[in-house]
Amino acid sequence: MPAAVRITEIGPRDGLQGEPRAMPTAGKIALVRALSQAGLAEIEATAFVHPKWIPNLADAEDVLAATHDLPAVRYALVPNARGLARALAAGVQGVTTVFSATDGHNRSNLNRSTEQSLQEAIEVGREALAAGKLLRASISTVFGCPFDPTPAPARIVEIAARLREAGYRRVGLCDTIGVADPAQVKALVATVMRELPGLDLDLHFHDTYGRGLANVVAALEAGATSFDSSIGGLGGCPYAPGATGNISTEDLVAMLHAMGLETGVDADALFRASEQVAAWRGGLESQCWRVEQGRRARAAAA
Ligand code: ZN
Repeated sequence: MPAAVRITEIGPRDGLQGEPRAMPTAGKIALVRALSQAGLAEIEATAFVHPKWIPNLADAEDVLAATHDLPAVRYALVPNARGLARALAAGVQGVTTVFSATDGHNRSNLNRSTEQSLQEAIEVGREALAAGKLLRASISTVFGCPFDPTPAPARIVEIAARLREAGYRRVGLCDTIGVADPAQVKALVATVMRELPGLDLDLHFHDTYGRGLANVVAALEAGATSFDSSIGGLGGCPYAPGATGNISTEDLVAMLHAMGLETGVDADALFRASEQVAAWRGGLESQCWRVEQGRRARAAAA
């Protein structure tokens, strides 16, 4: 087990993107501030995607403009060159490019083949690095796809290798629909780390079938040290209506701290961010939240 784990908070992006309604801009800004205050050193704060595709994140410029003073590094999801131009103009610090390992999902999401999107991610990545930005890629449907068969590990290695060749030092392996299992995770992380030593891996799990934290432990055992998570477990799954979302930051932090691993996150301050989101949403998906609600109900009844 590593001594410390890096957490990238993706609630303001992946989380809010998947919610049925948009959080008001002021709420998003307050949320990013609260997350930074809780010690999260990296926050994916928004996405520079056409508002027609993700109306919930149409205020990307405003969210970045109001959070420049924070110690947290703010990443934004950038799917193409137009998105990068907007992100650079808005003073983004970190760029996350995104595409799917499977053609079916990539065509459904980005209307082009995986190969075309990989080329675009290479070009966007070069431009982001030239502009002095931090850079990571998020590869979707690595562990399973709603349209195509699960990609072979060799295919994931090939995609990650091409990104590394193009200057990427950091690549995310994303279980976009929450179907990964711990044995699969352990095997794939071990394979990628063996084939591409030194590549910085982010693991990104959704809790659709309740396997999210089990997958985190499996990834840790294979040598991973970085995870994406979402405050309150926001996000859902576009292919499983009603399903829970990303692994929740509260539950991830609570588990890692219980295991004696450092995260840099203050769990109490994090809970204040949870309460902020819960007040807007009317509750959260995280176990920490449920336990706290039960505790409060018992205290109120006593
Ligand atoms: Zn996700």
